[in-house]
Amino acid sequence: MHIGFIGLGNMGAPMARNLLAAGHRLSVHDLSAPAVAGLAQAGATVADSPAALAREVELIITMLPASAHVKGVYLGEDGLLAQVRPGVMLIDSSTIDPLSAREVAAAAREHGNPMLDAPVSGGTAGAAAGTLTFMVGGETADFERARPVLAAMGKNIVHCGPAGNGQVAKVANNMLLGISMIGVAEAMSLGVALGMEPKVLAGVINSSSGRCWSSDSYNPFPGVMDNVPAAHGYSGGFGTDLMLKDLGLASEAARQARQPVILGALAQQLYQAFSAQGNGALDFSAIVNLYRKDANA
Ligand code: NAD
Repeated sequence: MHIGFIGLGNMGAPMARNLLAAGHRLSVHDLSAPAVAGLAQAGATVADSPAALAREVELIITMLPASAHVKGVYLGEDGLLAQVRPGVMLIDSSTIDPLSAREVAAAAREHGNPMLDAPVSGGTAGAAAGTLTFMVGGETADFERARPVLAAMGKNIVHCGPAGNGQVAKVANNMLLGISMIGVAEAMSLGVALGMEPKVLAGVINSSSGRCWSSDSYNPFPGVMDNVPAAHGYSGGFGTDLMLKDLGLASEAARQARQPVILGALAQQLYQAFSAQGNGALDFSAIVNLYRKDANA
């Protein structure tokens, strides 16, 4: 299939490479010349604008930072909808708020283009390994058409319901992740302050009712696990500022739905405070340093 890919950043570049590896023809666009050059070297054709790319391809995937970029690329003057042929499928894998996703999908539908929101989890490692989870919103028939393409980049591909529901699943999951990480940080810090060995305490939690992904797969306390950001100064992983962005999306979606997210809002403020102290680039599990008496950060 001839696929167009826009947004070749930390996530988009490895995803695009996996499409090439699966044998698809690829046209790419990004504002960053080095990002485009990397994919051109790997065999992709370069397009100068979203509109130019739209004229060439059978399906388009976007992987952009936030709602404003997505709206610009789809709805802008030189945007995708200005040039794309009706019937070409559009898939946005960026993480944006559900209502913006529904707005862009409605504009695409009016133009005669099926559109899916398909945000991912799994991070840059999952993008490189082709093991991402895709949370997909849109019509069932469109989901089935897109599934083989998404399967070249991901392992779990879940249809979450109509347009916007992929983003709904993503913000709900990430809000819970942000909250659970703070819960584990708080409980571990309390136990250690009261004299427990972090590893022994984590072992108890992980075989008891407090167990969760933040405690057993991504423990924030140093010395508990290898191969997690806590083992190497909280570098790599999922940045505090990215978590903050996702909690902002959850808060905004909650405001629009008039649904209270009390712990989500509190978590947002804690990560905000941590980021304001200069820690935005650290992995989000570094939030444990807000609690640790011996932490420097
Ligand atoms: P990134 O900033 O590394 O990449 C974004 C790319 O989009 C950049 O190359 C940028 O030049 C390009 N871009 C921006 N505006 C553009 C425009 N108007 N036209 C063309 N290209 C444009 O971001 P990322 O880490 O790849 O994340 C992308 C999306 O995936 C975000 O919504 C993020 O929240 C989500 N996400 C990221 C991770 C992660 O671990 N990094 C995990 C899951 C989801």
